[in-house]
Amino acid sequence: MQIIDVHVHPSTRGLDPDAYAYFRRELKDLPTTEETFAQYFSSRQAKALLIAWHPSTVNEEPRVTNKYVLALVKKYPEAFAGVLGSLDMSSDNSDGRIRRAEELGKNPLVKGFKFHPPDQGFYPNDKKYYSLWETLAALGKPLMFHTGFTVLGAGAEGGKGIGLDYGRPIHLDTVARDFPRMKIVAAHPGWPWQEELLGVVTHKKNVYVDTSGYLAEQLPELFLKTIRGRLQDKALFGTDFPYVDLGKALESYDRLGLKENAKEKILFANARALFEL
Ligand SMILES: [Zn+2]
Repeated sequence: MQIIDVHVHPSTRGLDPDAYAYFRRELKDLPTTEETFAQYFSSRQAKALLIAWHPSTVNEEPRVTNKYVLALVKKYPEAFAGVLGSLDMSSDNSDGRIRRAEELGKNPLVKGFKFHPPDQGFYPNDKKYYSLWETLAALGKPLMFHTGFTVLGAGAEGGKGIGLDYGRPIHLDTVARDFPRMKIVAAHPGWPWQEELLGVVTHKKNVYVDTSGYLAEQLPELFLKTIRGRLQDKALFGTDFPYVDLGKALESYDRLGLKENAKEKILFANARALFEL
């Protein structure tokens, strides 16, 4: 079966050691060269969407940038299906941000955009961003927003300055209502607000969800039940690699005993249709 992994961070840059510790992952097990990173996906018949956002908790250079992930996709098209572009949400230069979004959006390798409201410190339903959402909705490319708990700053004093409230799924409900043509992907099951997230995804046709950050059996029970049934056309397989291992994640879906048809939708067909891959 072909696989699309919609949620992949390059393991070659921007690694957060605290996040690794949280996932009990060993840094030495990761592909750290571009070539081995690409092979990791291509050898498993999987194509990844690469996320260009760089976590605020990682100060070491070099950074993950749009330019960097675009170069990876160009170089390894057998492993990487495209890029989810990133924008600076803290700058007061709203016009500049919109121009940058348009410029990135024109690039056929940019399949959508990724935002991390808790880490970038903004509310998606803040009216200050509505002209940006209008521009991005017109482009027709999906926007992915981190929802719920984040491993960034987890267990640290003050959570390293990161607020979870920005990642509440209900904020996306407002955006989905105000921009009905915009396709929105809520990244992760939204824990501890998984019920809120399921409510939003069920109610708004233009909101989807990815399964990333968990092996299948670790997903909240209600979430799992819903994506097996009513939401099987709106759930997208994602790992959150390198935090979650692709091989282990795929094995966990094999053990789940999903109907073949539902499994094919979640691991491949839903993402292909949504991101037009
Ligand atoms: Zn992620």
